Order: sequence, then structure tokens, then C-alpha cells
Amino acid sequence: MEKREELYRGKAKSVYKTDDADRLILLFRNDTSAFDGKRIEQLDRKGMVNNKFNAFIMQKLEAAGIPTQFDKLLADNEVLVKKLDMIPVECVVRNYAAGSLVKRLGVEEGMKLNPYTFELFLKDDAKGDPFINESHVVAFGWGTAEQLVRMKELSLKVNDVLSKLFDDAGLLLVDFKLEFGVFSDGSIVLGDEFSPDGCRLWDKDTKKKMDKDRFRQGLGDVIEAYEEVAQRLGVPL
Ligand code: ADP
Ligand code: UDP
Repeated sequence: MEKREELYRGKAKSVYKTDDADRLILLFRNDTSAFDGKRIEQLDRKGMVNNKFNAFIMQKLEAAGIPTQFDKLLADNEVLVKKLDMIPVECVVRNYAAGSLVKRLGVEEGMKLNPYTFELFLKDDAKGDPFINESHVVAFGWGTAEQLVRMKELSLKVNDVLSKLFDDAGLLLVDFKLEFGVFSDGSIVLGDEFSPDGCRLWDKDTKKKMDKDRFRQGLGDVIEAYEEVAQRLGVPL
């Protein structure tokens, strides 16, 4: 597999072409951003931890029948993935209230949501990733109604699989964000990453925050918390 030119440099990852038209390389950098990229810092080891964490989770999801981009780990910071035509919509599943939901509705952080909620946000930093609904996705052509049905079905399946996986590691999966894309065969596939950068994880007993909220809220020991989550799950680092 030959790494070719950089296609895109995001806030946390760089994307490279390869000699295979159906494959890309994602390079996980140490850059850590918050507030739609308004704050960016370098955190030692983050790229490596998130790359390996993501590979572990994607393989668990694949084993549970969820189609993912994952092909193989290439290096500490690099993974080979299926090249997807990304749908510019973030799918957010919540099991407990936190973050923007608390701000928007004024509910108490940690309130159990029964059942879980499913929300959509437009992936557009310049517009502050606005909250949207399914009719916007179809009307503006970001995705079709059929693709949305599949994205929701897969998001809820991911929630089932990962809620159990984290629960077994003594962690509450509070919420998470997924991004999907269309593969060359037309199927909807889970892309981007699943790591503590894009989800909220709280210790079941102490409710200690073990995710990117440590960075957003200046709580310190960000990567130490990510490493503890990885160690509890058995992710080889
Ligand atoms: P951002 O774009 O939010 O700053 P990143 O730094 O994580 O995010 O950049 C990674 C970019 O690569 C994102 O735009 C994401 O949508 C895109 N991407 C992730 N996985 C794939 C994939 N399998 N195929 C094509 N693009 C992908
Ligand atoms: N999230 C993300 N990228 C975004 C926005 C949200 O990964 O651009 C994740 C976030 O880490 C959390 C979940 O999606 O796990 C829900 O985020 P929320 O809507 O509460 O927004 P926040 O307050 O985190 O910006």
C-alpha cells in the first residue's frame, strides 16, 4: 500500500490518497480542538491513543455486523480505511443529558434519557455545526431518506453494542457522534472515528469524566483519562 498526496487536513486528522482508488490513509495527529476549532492544543500521545482506540472499537462494531471503514492499522498514528463519500451530517445518540442538550433545554446534566435520543447536526464549522432535522438533510440534498433510515438504524445498533462494552468496563456511554459515508458499492458505511474525542464516558461509580470534556472544561489529565479507558477495555496501546 503506497501513501500518496494529502487530500484533506482536518482539525485532528490528515487524509491521504493511496495507490488503491477505494482506500485512504487517516493520520491521527496530536492536535486537539474544541468549540468548532476555535481552541487547538497539542496533547502528547493523543494521535496514537485515538488511532488504536478507534481501530479496537471499529473491529468490535464490524464483528457485531456494522459495516465500518476499518481495513488495517498501518502504524501507531495511521490506519488504512475504505474511501467514503462522506455525508456532511453528524449523528448524535444520547443516553444521558450533557453538553449542547443541557444548554439547549436547560435539563440537568446526567439525567437519564429514556429512551435514548437521536439528533442530527450539519457538519459545518463556519456555521457552528447547527442542529438540523431529517427533512433538512433530504431537502438540501445532504443525504436521501433511505440513507437516513440506514444511518439511524446503524447508530442505534452502535449504541447497543458500545453501551454494553463500556458498561462491562465500568463506564457509562453518555453520548457519542458518528459520521457515515457512501462506499463505492453504494452502501452506507461508518466512517471517521470513534474515540474519547467524539463521545462522553463517565466512570459508573464516581461519574468522573473520561473524555474530551476534560479538555473542553480544563479538567487536566486528558490523555491519562483516555489511556485509562483504553486499559479498562483492553485496547493494546
Ligand atoms: P474535521 O474535518 O472535523 O476537522 P478530522 O480532523 O477528523 O475532522 O478530519 C478527518 C476528515 O476526514 C473529516 O472531514 C471526515 O469527514 C473525513 N473522513 C473520515 N473518514 C473518512 C473516510 N473513510 N473516507 C473519506 N473521508 C473520511
Ligand atoms: N461531538 C463531536 N463533534 C462535534 C460535536 C459533537 O464529536 O462536532 C460529540 C461530543 O463529543 C459529544 C456528542 O457528540 O460526545 C454530543 O455533543 P453535543 O451536541 O453535546 O455538543 P458539545 O457540547 O460537545 O459541543
